[in-house]
Amino acid sequence: MFKDQYIKAGELDKADSLRIYKSQFYFPEENIIYLDGNSLGRLPLSAIESSHNAVQYQWGERLIRGWNEGWYTLSAKLSKKLASVIGCNYDEVIITDSTSVNLYKLADAALRLQSGKTAIVTDEFNFPSDLYILQGLIRNHGSKHSLTIVKSRDSVSMDTADILSRITEETALVSLSLVSFKSGYLYDIKTITDYAHKKGALVLWDLSHAAGAVECRLSETGADMAVGCTYKYLNGGPGSPGYLYIRKDLIPRLQNPIQGWFGENNPFEFNQHYTPAAGINRFLTGTPPVLSLTPLHDSLAMLNKAEINIIRKKSIALTGFFIELAELFLSKHGFSLGSPKSASERGSHVSLRHAEAFRICKALTEGVTGTIVIPDFREPDNIRFGFSPLYSTFSEAVRTVELLVQIIEQKLYETVNPQKDAVT
Ligand SMILES: *Cc1c(COP(=O)(O)O)cnc(C)c1O
Repeated sequence: MFKDQYIKAGELDKADSLRIYKSQFYFPEENIIYLDGNSLGRLPLSAIESSHNAVQYQWGERLIRGWNEGWYTLSAKLSKKLASVIGCNYDEVIITDSTSVNLYKLADAALRLQSGKTAIVTDEFNFPSDLYILQGLIRNHGSKHSLTIVKSRDSVSMDTADILSRITEETALVSLSLVSFKSGYLYDIKTITDYAHKKGALVLWDLSHAAGAVECRLSETGADMAVGCTYKYLNGGPGSPGYLYIRKDLIPRLQNPIQGWFGENNPFEFNQHYTPAAGINRFLTGTPPVLSLTPLHDSLAMLNKAEINIIRKKSIALTGFFIELAELFLSKHGFSLGSPKSASERGSHVSLRHAEAFRICKALTEGVTGTIVIPDFREPDNIRFGFSPLYSTFSEAVRTVELLVQIIEQKLYETVNPQKDAVT
C-alpha cells in the first residue's frame, strides 16, 4: 500500500544534503525509529571518545591541572559555537545551569529592572516548569505581580493578536516558548518583541524546543532575553546544561539574583565583596559541570557545519511530508493534526491526536509490530513525533505511518499494558 510513498521518500533521502550526518551518530544494532530527538537527542559518535577522554585523561591524569588546560574556558568556548546556532553574538550567550534556573535568574532580573510594572504575560502553551518558575518568582517578589496565561482558541495555534492585546504599559515581562512543547506552534519573535517594546515590556524566550532545528535569529529580531536546554536538538546528552542569552545593551542593566564567584569580575582574586563581571558571565553562579559540557563540543560543531538554515529547510520538508502522509492514511483512522499545518508556524515535531493516543504510543514504543518506534505521549491525547534533521529520514516517516495504520487496523493497541511509566 505504501509503495509510492517509499519510492518518494527514498528519492528525498537520496537528495538530502544532510544525509551524511546520520553516520556520525551512534546507531546500536537494535533497529529502532527514534522520533524523540525533541526530548533527548541521539548520541554523537565522537562524544563517546571525548567523554571517555574527559573522564580518564583530563580528570584521571590531569586532576586539578585540568582547570588551566581547558575546563575554565570550556563553557565560553562552547557558547561561541552555540551563538551561531541561535543567531546571536558570541558574547551574548553563556551555557550554564538548567533552563529552569536560567529562566528564574533572567525573569527575576527583568522584574527588578522593570520595578513599577506589575504584570507578567505568558500563555497556556508554555512549558509547565516555566509557569511554575514565574509563579514562584511572583511569590518571592511579594505577590505584587499578576500572571496572565493567554489561552489558545484551538489548542494548536496562538493568535498573535490575543497575545499582543494583553501586553500593556503595566507589563513588565512577556515569557513565551518559541516552539510550544505540545503542539509545536512557532512564534514570530520580531512581531511580539516590537510590540512589547512599544509598551515598555521585556520579552524572555524559551528556545528549548527550537534551538538546533529552527532559526531563532535572536540578533536579527532584537530579542531581549532567552534561555534553553542543550539536550534536545542540540544532542548534549541527558541533563546537559542550559544556556541564557541577553542582548548586549541589556547585559549591564541586569543583575544576577544568585551572585556567586563564577559571576564575579575576578573569581580567583577571592575578593570579599562582589563586583559583577562586565559581560554575560555575570549570570554565572558556580563551578561549571565539565563532564556534562564535554559532549556538546562535538554536537555543536556538527550543527555549525550543517548550518541552521539548511537544517530548518529539511525540518520543514520532513514534518510537511509526515503531515501529508498522516492526512492521507491516518485521518480516516481517528487521528487529527495537533500541530500547525503552516510550516512558518511549526517547529520540528508533529503532534497527532487520537482518543487512544496513550495506548497507540505504547504500542509503538513496545514494538508490538516487530519494529520499535519511539515518539512520546503528552496529555491528554497527543503523540509527539520529533524529527531531528541531522538523523531523521523521510523513509522513517513513511514506515511510522505504515505501522500506525497496522496498529489501528489490527487493534494492536489493545494488547499493551496501560500502565504509565514515571517519565512519559
Ligand atoms: C525541555 C524544556 C525545559 C527543561 O527545563 P530544565 O530546567 O532543563 O528541566 C524547559 N522549558 C522548555 C520549553 C522545554 O521544552
